[in-house]
Formats: sequence, C-alpha cells, structure tokens
Amino acid sequence: MKIAFHPSFIHPLPQNHRFPMEKYQKLKNFCDRIFEQNKDVWITPNPMKEEWIKSTHSEQYIEKLQKGTLEKLEERKIGFPWSAQLWERERRIVQGTWELIQYAYENQSFGVNIAGGTHHAFADKGEGFCLLNDLAIGANLGVLAGLTRILILDLDVHQGNGTASILRDNPHCFTFSMHAEKTYPLRKEKSDLDRAFAPGTKDDEYLQTLEEHLPLLMHEIKPELILYNAGADILEGDDVGTLQITLEGCRKRDELVYKNAASNGIPTVTTMGGGYQKNLTPILQAHENTILEACKWEPLMKK
Ligand SMILES: [Zn+2]
Repeated sequence: MKIAFHPSFIHPLPQNHRFPMEKYQKLKNFCDRIFEQNKDVWITPNPMKEEWIKSTHSEQYIEKLQKGTLEKLEERKIGFPWSAQLWERERRIVQGTWELIQYAYENQSFGVNIAGGTHHAFADKGEGFCLLNDLAIGANLGVLAGLTRILILDLDVHQGNGTASILRDNPHCFTFSMHAEKTYPLRKEKSDLDRAFAPGTKDDEYLQTLEEHLPLLMHEIKPELILYNAGADILEGDDVGTLQITLEGCRKRDELVYKNAASNGIPTVTTMGGGYQKNLTPILQAHENTILEACKWEPLMKK
C-alpha cells in the first residue's frame, strides 16, 4: 500500500473559495496517525514531465497552463485562478496517480492519492477544479507501458466527462461512471457505461446498482488495473451532489469496490475526488473510510 502526497496539494487559495482545500492536510494528518512510523507508505511525487502530459493533453493547452495564458473564461470554468504554484500542484497530482499505478501494478497492491480524481479535465481544456486529468493520463501511460485492460471506475457524484471524452476511442480503457443526473456537468459525455441517479437517491438503490455491476465488469473486462475515483460528494448534505447517500452507504461503496478488486487480484489506485459541504467533518470521515477500507482489503491481494 502506498499513499501519494506532497505539501503543494494544499495550495493556498483565496479565502471563502468553496473548494475545501484544507481537507488534504487533514487527510495527511490522518494517514500519519494510522501509518505511524511507516515512512515507506509515502510517495512524494515530482511534477510530471511535459512529454508525459502530452500523452493526453493538447500541446496548445499545456502551453497555456505553463505560461499562464488561459483566457478569462477558461480560467473561470476551471474555478481556480492560475498561478505557477497551481500548475506545479497539478503536475504533482497527476504524477502521484501515475507513480501509484506503477507501484500497484508491479506489486499487485493498492495505492491511494490524497488528491486527484480530476475527471473534468478534457484534452484541450479544464473545468470544475480540474486542469489535468490524472485518471486519463494514468490510463494512457498505462496503455503505453503495455496494459491492455484498464477499468476506470468513477463513483464521484459528478460524471467523469473529461475522462469519458479523452478515453472514448481507446479500446484498452473502459470507463464506468455512476453519477447524479441533475448536477454538473449538465451536458454529459458518453462513458462506456453510465448510470445516472435521480435527486434524492438513497443507499439501497445506489449500492444495489453497484453490487450488480461490479462482478459483471470484473468478468467481462477482466481488468489488469482499476482506477477508482472515490468522491465524497455522493453524501447527503453535499452542496452540489443531490444524492442522499449516508456515511455508512459511502463506506459500503468503497468496501464493494475493494472487495471485488482484491478478490479478483486487481491492482487498484484510488483518487479522492470531490466533496463539498461547509462542514468538513462528513467529507473527511468519508475519505478516511476510503483509506481504511483500502487498508482492510489490500492484504487479500497477496493471497
Ligand atoms: Zn465531484
């Protein structure tokens, strides 16, 4: 098990921004507590090299991000003001996901990125707090390294629109997104498989859908690698999520994913995804549960 983190993940942003950046430090502290002196658990990613980012994003877009020449409208769609620090942060996040993929695959293990899940970034534009798409870059680099069956399991409340768009014609990657019907992005892309839920959907329906699909995906795709986006914005009380999944339901979601992955021996890399509530406590609890469930199920990989 490895966890990716770098201090730049906690990028200083203007106050009152609705993106809960402080959760990353708190999650790092939580991991320090549960892993105690095990320094081996950490991956500290450098910024990803530009040539690797080019596996997925257009040269023109990368140049804008490098030079800080995004149009005002482009910047507004991303939701973060551009800065050199932000550009560094993004490159370290995508590198973190990629290093975890390599580690998980080589060691038949699990990896968790404390940030990431930037699934709204398209090849040539960013949206919804996402500049570079770590899931798509990781999948593309994985395919370049020889993987032929990668499952992107996107259980953030928002559709993985950028990932679906980038990987649409990639025969080696299968995108599955379970998301809320009536929230951003209102114009959905087409994943290989989409399941959209009505506002107010509760645990039973949500978990039953997941429980039905996971064994089918394991059987039909036979993934060599799973990239799991574990957004906490499916929780009831989320400002934008519209679903009513309890904390326990969210934990069961993670359990279902890791149980299916581990019992089939599939290396799995998790990204934290979204979570938007004024009260940070439920978001943190959901993310902490994700890490705990990953720790609980990962030993099954070795058997
Ligand atoms: Zn989200």
